[in-house]
Amino acid sequence: MTDCPKPPWKAIDRSGCAPIEIRTAAVDPGSGFLKRCDGLNAATRLLAEASRLSTPLAALWLDVDRFRQVNDSFGHAGGDRLIACIAGRIRQAVSGLGECLHMGSDEFVILIPDAGGSSAEQAARKLLLEIEQPMAIDDIMIRPSVSIGIAISLADDDPIGLLERADRAMIDAKRQGGNRFVISGYEALPGRIGVALAREELAIESALYSALENGELRLNYQPIVRPDGRVEAVEALMRCAAQGVQIPPDKFIPVAEKTGLIVRLGEWSLLQGTRCAARLREQGYTTKVAINVSRVQLLSPGFLPALHGALICANVPPELIELELTESLVMDLSPTVQANLRSARQAGVGLAIDDFGTGYSSLASLKDIPATKLKFDRAFISVLPADRQALAIVKAMTQLGRELGMIVVAEGVETHEQLIACEVAGTDATQGFFHARPMSEDDLILWMKGRSFK
Ligand code: C2E
Ligand code: CA
Ligand code: CA
Repeated sequence: MTDCPKPPWKAIDRSGCAPIEIRTAAVDPGSGFLKRCDGLNAATRLLAEASRLSTPLAALWLDVDRFRQVNDSFGHAGGDRLIACIAGRIRQAVSGLGECLHMGSDEFVILIPDAGGSSAEQAARKLLLEIEQPMAIDDIMIRPSVSIGIAISLADDDPIGLLERADRAMIDAKRQGGNRFVISGYEALPGRIGVALAREELAIESALYSALENGELRLNYQPIVRPDGRVEAVEALMRCAAQGVQIPPDKFIPVAEKTGLIVRLGEWSLLQGTRCAARLREQGYTTKVAINVSRVQLLSPGFLPALHGALICANVPPELIELELTESLVMDLSPTVQANLRSARQAGVGLAIDDFGTGYSSLASLKDIPATKLKFDRAFISVLPADRQALAIVKAMTQLGRELGMIVVAEGVETHEQLIACEVAGTDATQGFFHARPMSEDDLILWMKGRSFK
């Protein structure tokens, strides 16, 4: 007879099943892994063994990302298929390394004896890679992913404490967008978030993955023009075509932000945008390239290495690169985000506050961000010149931006009248369909060649 451990085990038992006594070691028929209580007994045994041998025991807590949305979209049969598929992939990734436990619903625990931080990290990377392979449910290809929390046993650890630390680290991994691992003790964000994706969003997420793999992402460039006609910078705007069908950025960027995929898309656009700056320079144009960056990217530990890597690969001076900080970022400036922005600025990269004047990006952000540029949101410009109040605000804010040493840009200039109004207000440069729509790099170079300024 096997005793299911008594509380505090209950503290991490989310299935609603009270601790019970079970008679035989049970294997979950769906996953083939040890069931929760037997699993905890295994943790107790392995931890005792680890302590006897003075070796570490690694606990990896896995939680399937967006499982509820799969259940809502495809029913429980779809959810069961996803769990069975993920269980198979876990087995594939960690076979022979340790014991796997199905904690119930969409949560798994893997216990790896004699594994310290680096072995556990290696296992987590392998798991993430194995699990994210596409799978079909009904007619939709989905990319399953998991959030992984890692805890390494301490001297005199107890199984509950070890698993709870792994669970908390997993929650942090989820909070950062999922499809990643976090090691206990290195959590960035407290609390739990719900990552809610509707069925259409799951399809967009899958399209984004295939666009990344099949080279269906593009950057288009839109010039930002000074009153004398010189091009002050070009803004890189991402385009995604899934099997030839364009998905607008307003649809795919929010999904990429929700799922954490924006980190990979963002690394891709840093590489492409810096390369474009290098090619423009080869053509004799020392034009800055402005690359949009989301908050999730700036929370990622890989952000600064990706930025530096892109600058080195493209061999461009950092002064030719600018990061446009979208509203979601300016809305919530965590210490990590601020530190990353400061480091980027210290390296010489410019920082632009985008969509200035909207509900999210306002005067407060001027104080917290070492910005070099202020971009007025289109909402202010589209009502010019008729709206005298908007004109007064643009004038006053332009003055303020200037006094703070920033370049002030008006976005969304569509008409000659709007251009004149912006120039009267004193903005340093304008961007919008009046000058040019976003275009491919080749078209941009042709467009630049058609102008008299370098
Ligand atoms: P944004 O950063 O504010 O970019 C400007 C948007 O305004 C672009 O839309 C551009 O095509 C559009 N636009 C420019 N001039 C005019 C004009 O005169 N009139 C009108 N009506 N629109 C104009 P787009 O390319 O659809 O991008 C939408 C948003 O998606 C961007 O807004 C940005 O927030 C986001 N985005 C685009 N590319 C990226 C990217 O690489 N990374 C991230 N994180 N976000 C991106
Ligand atoms: Ca922008
Ligand atoms: Ca903008």
